[in-house]
Amino acid sequence: MSAFRDEIKGWLQKACPETIRGRNFDFAGGHKVPIENADFQSWFDACAERGYTVPTWPVEYGGSGLSAADARILREEMGRIKAPTPLAGMGTAMIGPTLLEHGTPAQKQEHLPKIARGEIRWCQGYSEPGAGSDLAALQTKAVDQGDHYLINGSKIWTSGADQADWIFCLVRTDSKAPKHEGISFVLFSMDSPGVSVEPIQLINGSSPFCQCFFVDVKAEKSNLIGQENRGWTIAKRLLQHERSSISSGGGGIGAGAALPDLALRYGNTAQAKLTDPQTRAEVTSIEIDNRAFGLTLRRAAEENHSGGTQTFATSMFKYYSSELYRRRMESSMSLMGTQATGWEGDGFSNEELAVTRGWLFGKAMTIAGGSSEVQLNIIAKRVLSLPD
Ligand SMILES: Cc1cc2nc3c(=O)[nH]c(=O)nc-3n(C[C@H](O)[C@H](O)[C@H](O)COP(=O)(O)OP(=O)(O)OC[C@H]3O[C@@H](n4cnc5c(N)ncnc54)[C@H](O)[C@@H]3O)c2cc1C
Repeated sequence: MSAFRDEIKGWLQKACPETIRGRNFDFAGGHKVPIENADFQSWFDACAERGYTVPTWPVEYGGSGLSAADARILREEMGRIKAPTPLAGMGTAMIGPTLLEHGTPAQKQEHLPKIARGEIRWCQGYSEPGAGSDLAALQTKAVDQGDHYLINGSKIWTSGADQADWIFCLVRTDSKAPKHEGISFVLFSMDSPGVSVEPIQLINGSSPFCQCFFVDVKAEKSNLIGQENRGWTIAKRLLQHERSSISSGGGGIGAGAALPDLALRYGNTAQAKLTDPQTRAEVTSIEIDNRAFGLTLRRAAEENHSGGTQTFATSMFKYYSSELYRRRMESSMSLMGTQATGWEGDGFSNEELAVTRGWLFGKAMTIAGGSSEVQLNIIAKRVLSLPD
């Protein structure tokens, strides 16, 4: 056993309160949705103090400077005691890693420690009413005003925009250039004058998305990432981080009970169904695919010393993980029968209600971060080098 593993085990026993082990903790940073539970707060503070909210980031930016191998030990030991992830969201998974690669020293110093300490929650301003899969068709305009840009336009499907403090946003800085060459990548505060946010009500009554409107919003040039009109390269890189995070369970895609376990617990109905050879074959096939995918993810992370899968091959992982999750949730529904069709009320347990929502969420995850069809296009072009 390594000395590091021993040290982590000892630290975890003290730092992670028993009361929160095994519980969900979706803290994505910022002050608009504060941590309300004192035990979660103490766990978060203990992790932030050691740089364990972003363990592989350099110490100067709020991380712990761990190697990929030590970070894995930390993850394994946290998993063993069911410690919740201390900090999630777009700061740690998307804009942080992108800034580490493309930010200037001043930009890194300004933004990364605030992400690591959970002070700022970020949202993603990519999609527009007329630009989804064809993202480079975006029209939100930024006009050069010397030391800043003035931004006008609208973004849609912006997850968590109503709770975010800052946005990373794709804007058009040259409307005459070919569409991929006139885009810039800027950061600005969601509390800037001229920003308004309207939640979009979904069929289930919740609003995870918003539409954002920008009228003469000021973005300082010091917050332009990379060069003006060269933002497309950075945008694509960030998408690789996003897809890698989705593949490895970001946003809850890995959640849900194992199918054989569901089958056993759902008594007669499911057992009766498991006597059906077709159902048995489906459950077995999904379980095997799930295990194999978990091992493939681990191997890819170990081969890539940065600990992730962020290349064009990320599209393969994103495609496979979201389609597998969708299959698993569809199968859970059919095993649980009408108990997995509830929306609210006393007739359903929390686990049952979660399956109904997970089934819908599974469909959303085949669209978020680029639809399955778009991932197949990228795999064809960039991984298999097939002609356009
Ligand atoms: C849960 C969730 C969270 C999201 N969060 C954010 C966010 O925070 N920020 C943000 O900017 N966006 C966000 N989005 C938006 C997401 O990125 C877009 O929905 C996605 O890129 C698809 O764009 P669209 O909805 O405009 O669909 P369209 O582009 O209109 O596509 C419609 C259909 O056509 C297919 N299609 C389109 N082009 C092609 C092609 N060339 N080849 C084959 N098929 C094609 C698509 O696969 C899809 O099935 C989120 C979406 C979801 C579901």
